[in-house]
Amino acid sequence: MYIMSMIRLVNMTKRFGKTVAVKNADLEIEKGEFVVFLGPSGCGKTTTLRCIAGLENPEEGEIYIDNELVNDLPTLERDVGFVFQHYALFPHMNAYQNISFPLRAMKHKKSYIEREVMKVAELLRIEKILQLKPSHLSGGDLQSVALARALVIKPKVFLLDEPLSTLDAEFREEARTMIKKIHIEIGATTIYVTHDQMEAMAIADRIVTMNLGEIQQIDAPEYVYHNPVNIFVANFLGSPGMNFIDCSLEGDNTLKLGLDGKILQINEKIVKKIKAVREGKALLMMGIRPEDIKLSFKKDVYGFDMEVTIVEEIGPENIINLRSGDHVVKVLTDPDTLPETGETVWAVPDQDKIRIFDQQTQKEIL
Ligand code: ATP
Repeated sequence: MYIMSMIRLVNMTKRFGKTVAVKNADLEIEKGEFVVFLGPSGCGKTTTLRCIAGLENPEEGEIYIDNELVNDLPTLERDVGFVFQHYALFPHMNAYQNISFPLRAMKHKKSYIEREVMKVAELLRIEKILQLKPSHLSGGDLQSVALARALVIKPKVFLLDEPLSTLDAEFREEARTMIKKIHIEIGATTIYVTHDQMEAMAIADRIVTMNLGEIQQIDAPEYVYHNPVNIFVANFLGSPGMNFIDCSLEGDNTLKLGLDGKILQINEKIVKKIKAVREGKALLMMGIRPEDIKLSFKKDVYGFDMEVTIVEEIGPENIINLRSGDHVVKVLTDPDTLPETGETVWAVPDQDKIRIFDQQTQKEIL
C-alpha cells in the first residue's frame, strides 16, 4: 500500500569536513505524526532537522516534503515552521511584533495578520503579554512567543529543536503537555528533537533513536522500550536503565551468567531463540528491566542470588540495589518490599521480558 508521507528522507548523508553528521538516513513520517528524534549529544539530531528545514544541504540523498523533492528549495518555500533551543526573538520588538513578523514579511494584510496573531495567542494563552518586549518575559512566555511565531504561518511541518531545554524543570513538564495539546489541536506534522528519553517517551507517536549519525530504530515509544533492536537503544531508554549481564548458553536450559559464574534456568523459548542465531558458547548479553525482576527471599532456580546493598524509597516504588562481586543489578519493587541491607535475595527475571543481545554485533537476537 502506498502511504502518503509528509516527510521522506532517502539515503541522506550530511558531512562537515571529515565528520559524518548524518549517515544514510532513511525515514518516512506520515501526515499529522508527532515524531521525536532522540539520542546523545552529537548524534546528528539537529543536523537532520536543519537539512529538512533547508538550513543545511546534504551531500547525498533526497528530502521530500509532501511528496515534493525539496533539496534545492530554499527554506522559505518549504512550508516549515521551526523553533530552536535559543529562540532568537527580536529584542526591540514586543511579543505581538515578533509573532507577526513572518506574516509581515510575507506582506499579508493588516486585518489578516491581526486575526491570525490573536488566534495563536489564544491557543498558547499569551494574549495578555503581547505588548511586552522579550526582556520583560519569563522563560516560559519567551518559549510560547517563539512557538507562536512559528505557528502563525500555519506550516505543514513543525520542527522543534530542544525547545524546552532552557526552561526550569518545573515548567518543562507543563510546557511539554502544552506542545502536545497544540499538536492535537492543529495537527501539523511535527518533529521534536531531544536527548531526554523521558520527554521522548511522554510526547512521541514514534521515536527515531539515533547514535553516531545513524538511525538505530524507528518505533512507537512503548515498542522501543520493550523491544530495543540493540544494546545502545536498550541502554538509552528507561530510568533506572535496563540491567545488562554477560552470559552464554550452558547445557540444555541454563545461562551461565557473568556474575561469578552463577547459573540461571531459562525456558525453552529463549534457548530456541539463541540456538537459531548463535552456536555454542557465543558471548551474549542478557538485558532485563528493573521492573521485570521479582525478588525472592528463598532459593529460586529461575533467579540468581545477590546481596542487597542499598534500598532507595522513592515514593510509589523502591529501587533495590543488588551486588555480586563488582556487578550491580537494580530492581524496582512495590513500596512494601523492604529487604535488609546485607541480606541475600534471589533476583527472578520475568522470562517473557528477558532480552538477549549478541555481544559481537550488539544486536538483539530475535
Ligand atoms: P546536540 O544535542 O549536542 O545538539 P545533535 O545530536 O543535535 O547534538 P548535531 O548538532 O547534529 O548533533 O551534530 C552532529 C555532528 O556534526 C557532531 O559531531 C557535530 O560536532 C557536527 N557538526 C554539527 N554542526 C556542525 C558545523 N556547522 N560544523 C562542523 N561540525 C558540525
